[in-house]
Amino acid sequence: MVRENEIRENEVAVSPPEPVDAGLTFIGRTRTPWESRLMCPRQGRHDGPLCRIEIFEPWVPALAGVEAFERLEVLYWLDRSRRDLVLQSPASNGKVHGTFSLRSPVRPNPIGSSIVLLEGVEGNVLLVRGLDCLDGTPLLDLKPDRSLFKPIAPPQPGDFETGDAAEAKHCQKA
Ligand code: SAM
Repeated sequence: MVRENEIRENEVAVSPPEPVDAGLTFIGRTRTPWESRLMCPRQGRHDGPLCRIEIFEPWVPALAGVEAFERLEVLYWLDRSRRDLVLQSPASNGKVHGTFSLRSPVRPNPIGSSIVLLEGVEGNVLLVRGLDCLDGTPLLDLKPDRSLFKPIAPPQPGDFETGDAAEAKHCQKA
């Protein structure tokens, strides 16, 4: 079984435009037990090993208040992925699926997300369970799990809109 950057039976790669990643800032990195994709979990689990998320300066003050949340959403950059497959065969059996119907790390913009359990905060380091990324994977963002978060800012009209507002016609299918 190989799960690195190989192309499998019936998979389709394209020639994507040269990626431009300059709009993103890596705010930290994950420290996990996994050096190899062959050992990494496919999805993290909340009873999995304790991992560390290290936040870099100048972003450390942005951790203020995270300790109030039992779970955090973590967004990371799957930096060792290929980015050119449109059809993929996760089971390596010739049966292919569109990239956007999968949570595969192989995607044009290799963003991974996990909901992790927050076990502790030690200065610039979060102790979490539930990651599924390689040691050193760059961190893009952290947010409270949406099911635990109530907006602090006052409500806006759109918060109360239901159904199809007249102004929203452009959202409808042609
Ligand atoms: N939980 C995330 C999601 O659903 O968006 C990621 C799921 S993805 C299937 C997890 C797999 O990505 C791991 O099993 C490993 O094979 C691969 N992976 C982890 N870290 C990576 C990295 N830094 N670069 C490339 N691939 C990585």
